[in-house]
Amino acid sequence: MSTKSPSPGIVQNASLEDRLYTVKYEDPGESHLDVENPGICTTCHEDACVDVCPAKVWRKDADGTPTIAYENCLECGSCRFACPNENVIWTYPERGAGVTYKKG
Ligand code: SF4
Ligand code: SF4
Repeated sequence: MSTKSPSPGIVQNASLEDRLYTVKYEDPGESHLDVENPGICTTCHEDACVDVCPAKVWRKDADGTPTIAYENCLECGSCRFACPNENVIWTYPERGAGVTYKKG
């Protein structure tokens, strides 16, 4: 086991929560995410949008309708490509709002 101290300013073994804390966010005021056809979601049992999202943006209600907490979106684009029904409407937030990454 190493006894060497980390360099100043270097976070060792940062948790996902620690990393997310470094992301700056500006609320665009309206969702940049939606679904083309909510009816498709109510019969979809894959729920890939829920499973693939690292920020827990997607949640399925009891009737199968998705609730989208767009404010948490990291703009990774995964939900758009994961949906087997190509049902996700995905755009960048308007006016340059959304996330800004301070670290890689
Ligand atoms: S994976 Fe696509 S079709 Fe299924 S619930 Fe999510 S957005 Fe709707
Ligand atoms: S773009 Fe990424 S972070 Fe945003 S909702 Fe889709 S999967 Fe989640």
